[in-house]
Amino acid sequence: MLDFQHLLTKKEPVVQKIYGKELTQAEIELYIQREDLFHPELSGNKWRKLKYNLLEAKEDTYTRLLSFGGAFSNHIHALAASGKHLGFETIGVIRGEASSRSNPTLRFAEQCGMQLYFVSRTDYRRKEETAFMEELEKQFGRFYLIPEGGSNALAVKGCTEIVSKVQPYDVIGLSAGTGATAAGVIASLEGEKEVIAFSALKGDFLKKDIEKFIYDFRQTCPSGRRVSYTNWTLNTDYHFGAYAKFNDELIQFIQDFQKRFDIPLDPIYTGKMMYGIFDLIQKGHFPKGTKILAIHTGGLQGVEGFRERFGVL
Ligand SMILES: *Cc1c(COP(=O)(O)O)cnc(C)c1O
Repeated sequence: MLDFQHLLTKKEPVVQKIYGKELTQAEIELYIQREDLFHPELSGNKWRKLKYNLLEAKEDTYTRLLSFGGAFSNHIHALAASGKHLGFETIGVIRGEASSRSNPTLRFAEQCGMQLYFVSRTDYRRKEETAFMEELEKQFGRFYLIPEGGSNALAVKGCTEIVSKVQPYDVIGLSAGTGATAAGVIASLEGEKEVIAFSALKGDFLKKDIEKFIYDFRQTCPSGRRVSYTNWTLNTDYHFGAYAKFNDELIQFIQDFQKRFDIPLDPIYTGKMMYGIFDLIQKGHFPKGTKILAIHTGGLQGVEGFRERFGVL
C-alpha cells in the first residue's frame, strides 16, 4: 500500500553493475539503475512523473484525475494504480476501440477502478484543445488533467530526482518518448556529466521537445534561471523502425540480456536503449574507463500485452 507519506520519502536508488566480456574488453564500466523495482504496480519513470502531479491534485482538492494514452500505455497503467493506492477516481481517455479493454494493461486499469473512455484517432488528436476538455468536464465532472505520457513541468520536476550529480558516472543513458524524463535528468545534472537520450520514436523533433521541457521546468523554479544545456545528445539510431516497432535482433538481445544478467527489459523503451548502449560500446564510441549509468525506466507491464499481440518475447 502506498500513501502520501510514502510518496514524499526519498529512496536510495538500486544500482547494479553489469559484467560482460564486451565490457571488460572495451574497458567500460556499465551500471543499471533499477527504477523498475520501485513498486510492484507503479514503476519506473511513470511514477516519477506522476508524483508531483498527485501532490498538486491533492493540494488543490481534486478527487478525480483524467489523462490520455494508447491501449498499452505504461502511463495509463501507472495512473490507474496511483488512483487505487491514493484514493483518486481515475479516467483514462484511450485512443482506439473498446475491444482493447481486454488487453492486460487496460484490464489492470479497470481492476484498479479506472473508468475507460475510448475515442477515435481523430478525437484523440484533440487532446490538447480547450473545447475537448470542456466536453470531457461536462461528461465526467471536475478533474485534474494530466497530459499524455504524464509529461508536464511537474513530471520533469519528478524526474530531477532520478539521478544526482554526486553519483560517480560519466555518462547517463536513458530512453526518451516525450522527452520529459530526459529533461528532468538533464536539468538535475546542471551541465555536469553527459546524457544520451535514446529516442524510442523515429524523427528528431524530440530534441526541441526536450529543450522545451527543460525551459518550462526552469520557469517554475524559484531561481527562475533560464538555462539550456549542451552536455546531452539525442540518439536516433535505435528506434528499430518507429515507436513500438521491433525486429528479431532486438527480441534476441532482450532475451539474451535477461539470461545473462537476470534483468528484464521491455521492447518499447529500455530494450532499445540498452541495445544502443551495447552497440555504441562495441563500436568504440566511449573512451576507455568510461563509467556509464543506464536508467531502467520500467515499462515491464507492457511485456505481456506485447507478447499477446506479436507472439514473441
Ligand atoms: C514512457 C517511458 C519512457 C519515456 O519517457 P518520456 O518521459 O516520455 O520520454 C521511457 N521508458 C519507459 C519504460 C517508459 O514507460
